[in-house]
Order: sequence, then structure tokens, then C-alpha cells
Amino acid sequence: MLKFTPILLAIIYALVMYQFSAWRTRRELDQRSTELADPRLKALTDRMAEALGVERIKVNLYEIDPVNGLAAPDGRIFLTRGFFNKYRLGEVSAEEMASVIAHELGHVALGHARRRMIDFSGQNAVRVALATVLGRIIPGVGVWIANMLASLLMARLSRQDEYEADAYASALLVKSGIGTEPQKSLFTKLEGLTGMGGRGIPAWLMSHPKTHDRIAAIEALEARWARELPQE
Ligand SMILES: [Zn+2]
Repeated sequence: MLKFTPILLAIIYALVMYQFSAWRTRRELDQRSTELADPRLKALTDRMAEALGVERIKVNLYEIDPVNGLAAPDGRIFLTRGFFNKYRLGEVSAEEMASVIAHELGHVALGHARRRMIDFSGQNAVRVALATVLGRIIPGVGVWIANMLASLLMARLSRQDEYEADAYASALLVKSGIGTEPQKSLFTKLEGLTGMGGRGIPAWLMSHPKTHDRIAAIEALEARWARELPQE
């Protein structure tokens, strides 16, 4: 029994850190967000709500500068003030904003948001737990392997999640009559911001797969839909 105590402690530590990290994220979002009220965006989210058969889609505005959208573990959807400003300035269209909302809805609907550890301390906890377990089994290199495994796992999970959320968004945008064009044009647009001096890459792109690959995946979907649902 004593042999397993450190492993047990590591698992408990991971669970506690995960809860703490989720709580801290929730509190941060509560304190710094308000409901988004924009008539043009609402008209679009209402169309998506109708396509989904829900009453409405609530979107929150998170008061930070980085250009980002996110889905909280409790299922709420957030756009950052930085992103919203791009829309207000006319740099990003309402349809393009709707495509971000559709993508985040995908993370919620597919259960990614809850499973995902949003902040760094959550991820770190998994790393520590894995390192402790593997370090016991294979002394020396165990920790190193654990770190690699944890990084690979997170990267794989998140890439897969992103493609799934994109596919969900494509389907929803098509069903709502908005189409996938704004989804694709937004990727290209955001990537264009990368070169514009200063701090470069928008956060929303950094946490996601390569723009080119995402557009290719959406086009592959469209080609498949065109084959499966021939236009009369
Ligand atoms: Zn995403």
C-alpha cells in the first residue's frame, strides 16, 4: 500500500489542481464579462439557434485585448473585446464573427469544453501526475517520457478537437444559410494580421491548427456533402 501512496497523492493533486483551475477560470470569466448585445450579430445567432432548434444562443463579451473566442467548461461562449473591436472597426464581418461563435458552439456541443483543461495549472497537474507514476515504474527516463507523452497527448487532443469544431461549425453555418465562406475568409484574414508588426499572431490562431490545413479540411467536407447530397 505504501508503495502506491505517492501515485495516489499525485492523482489527488491532479484532481485538486484541475478543480482549482476550472474554478479560477470561471471566476475570471464571471468578473470580466457581460452579455454581448449587437443587433447584427444577434440576427445571425438567431438563425443558428433556429437551425439548432434552440431558443437562442447567448454570447458573452470577455474584456481582454487578445483576439480570441472560447468555450467555457460550463458551456458558455465568449468572444473577447479585442475580437469584437475588429468587428466594430469593420475589419471582421458579422458573418465571420458568427463563424467563430459556431466553432465555439461546436466545442461545447461535442463536449470538448468540459474535458479540456483550460489553463496552464490544469495541464501542469496532469504532467506532474504522469511523471510521478511513470517515474516510479521507470526510474530516470520515466519523467522525461511522461513530459513527452503529456505534450503529445494535449497537442493531439486539441488538434482533433479543432477539426471537429470546424466541421460542426461548417454544418451549422450551411444549415443556417450563412455558408462556409466567412469561416474560410476569417482564417485567411486572421493570418494576414500575423505580419502586421507588433505582437503578431492572434491568440485564436495560435491555439489552432494551421490555417491552410483548416481550410483544406472544410473544403474536403464540402466536396463530400456535394457528393452525398446531389443538388436537384
Ligand atoms: Zn477551437
